[in-house]
Formats: sequence, structure tokens, C-alpha cells
Amino acid sequence: MLRIPCPWCGVRDETEFRYRGDAAVPRPEAEAGLAEYSACTYKRTNQRGWHVEWWLHVGGCRKLLKLVRHTVTHEIHAVGHPQDRLAAPPEAAPPGAAPP
Ligand SMILES: [Zn+2]
Repeated sequence: MLRIPCPWCGVRDETEFRYRGDAAVPRPEAEAGLAEYSACTYKRTNQRGWHVEWWLHVGGCRKLLKLVRHTVTHEIHAVGHPQDRLAAPPEAAPPGAAPP
């Protein structure tokens, strides 16, 4: 189970949160057409690695937060407010790689 550090409530169990989608995809402008909104909503990649995500703390403060989570290890790198610009950490060298 994930333990998510809510910026307002502190560390809580994953069961208090709901995943709300990919935070890396910019929303279309207000005057954009149905095709742009449809692509933003439904055409997503299922990427492996670090992912910037929206989560809603439904069992707590009911606020939206942004976090950076690794989709394989579920490690959480950063958590912030919706307006924060969060970045993934640099990828670690694969096991057995020569040091730089
Ligand atoms: Zn909270």
C-alpha cells in the first residue's frame, strides 16, 4: 500500500486518496474543440518510470495534490500543491553499469 504525504494532512494511507489522472498533459484552451478535449481525456500513454499525477484526498482534506510516482516501484519522489511544477528525479544507472 502506498503511503502518500498530503501537503495539508501529513502521511496517510493510499485508501484515503483517489487517482485523478496524468498531471503532465496540459489541458486544451477553453475554445478548443471536442477532438482536443477527447485526446486530452482519453489518449494517454501507459508509461514505465516516473509519472506526474493528480490525486484527490477524498478521505481527508478533499484537496487536489500533485505527486511524482514511479509506476514500477511506486516510490514517491515529490508531492506538492496543484500549481507546483514537479519534476522527476534523474534516472539511476541500471544495475551493473559502469560508474561515471
Ligand atoms: Zn489532505
